[in-house]
Amino acid sequence: MPKIFNASAVALPHVAALDAYVPGEQPPDTGWIKLNTNENPFPPSPAVEAALRAELASQADHLRLYPLPTSRVLRETVAAFHGLEPSQVLVSNGSDDALNLLARTFCDATHPAGTTVPSYSLYPVLVALQNAPLITLEFDRSFSLDVDRIATCGANVFFLTAPNAPSGVAFPAAQIAQICERFPGLLVVDEAYAPFARENAVGLLNTYPNLVVTRSFSKVYGLAGCRVGYALGHPDVIGLLDRVRDSYNVDRLAQVAAVAALRDVAYYRDVIQKIVRTRDTYVQNFRARGWFTYESQANFIFTEPVDASGRKGAAVAKALFDFLRGRKFLIRYFGSHPLTKDFLRISVGTESEMKALTEAIDAWLHGARA
Ligand SMILES: *Cc1c(COP(=O)(O)O)cnc(C)c1O
Repeated sequence: MPKIFNASAVALPHVAALDAYVPGEQPPDTGWIKLNTNENPFPPSPAVEAALRAELASQADHLRLYPLPTSRVLRETVAAFHGLEPSQVLVSNGSDDALNLLARTFCDATHPAGTTVPSYSLYPVLVALQNAPLITLEFDRSFSLDVDRIATCGANVFFLTAPNAPSGVAFPAAQIAQICERFPGLLVVDEAYAPFARENAVGLLNTYPNLVVTRSFSKVYGLAGCRVGYALGHPDVIGLLDRVRDSYNVDRLAQVAAVAALRDVAYYRDVIQKIVRTRDTYVQNFRARGWFTYESQANFIFTEPVDASGRKGAAVAKALFDFLRGRKFLIRYFGSHPLTKDFLRISVGTESEMKALTEAIDAWLHGARA
């Protein structure tokens, strides 16, 4: 007789009741045009592959050994890149790891977290894992920041996606500064998309000790498969996060890849320029169709489709999503919030991927079947 063990009854109740984060789909087969998880449509710098080959060739037996526990070389490279000190940098296993460490360090049952809604949907999961209350501040359709409400919301730590996802709307650095001035807790500005934006909050770090900025190698550096990110903040905050993180939270190859990527400034300047140009072209393309489309400062476009009969709304957005899926285009539909249910989020691909996408949209408008 197998012994009976009720895992959910034995687990912590708040974990047993948790709704897990739902990542965008990673299709198992080939042939998809994948515009659903904001990955870079371009490969990482050739310097990344060269550095990985060199690491494996000359130091292969080093995989036997643990990586640098503080990712020292990468930490120093990130610090130099931003004009900061290494003590202001924490390197993480994707920026999700940094967000997780921030939640673990700054919220629990008696220390609430806060966020704007809709934003990156991982925050509520991380906060729920801490069994912490989450204060949610709803955006209106303008997706503009309400500095006053954030400053006075009572959260111990506040997560702000800037530029926002899924809208792509950016916030002026001056408003971030106002929040830092007045908010008594820790403000986490999640800048996964900031390299595609005109402004960012890094310049505020030396003024505001209650500001943390997180960055990712997944979107702009084309290294989503490597899992590297980082947090920038006051050395006291970074020191706390260092206590909480795994000793070896970033593997040896990921550290090597990220250092090589960060050093190839020219390659990525070009990649960012191409993505931004394509983004702006297709924002105009959707607007020219009469589709309401937010001004994006990220590498995705959030647009409200209108069908051939002039209808819009959740059913229309979902119908176009399904039609495109049938033609092997993956994009993202978020049906659960009033501000997102009528919209589709499209990651900016290459020019030819975007051209193919808009041709498929034209076919949908002309009544084709998927
Ligand atoms: C993609 C994304 C992340 C996660 O980045 P990783 O470095 O891949 O963990 C964090 N925040 C936002 C807003 C994102 O879109």
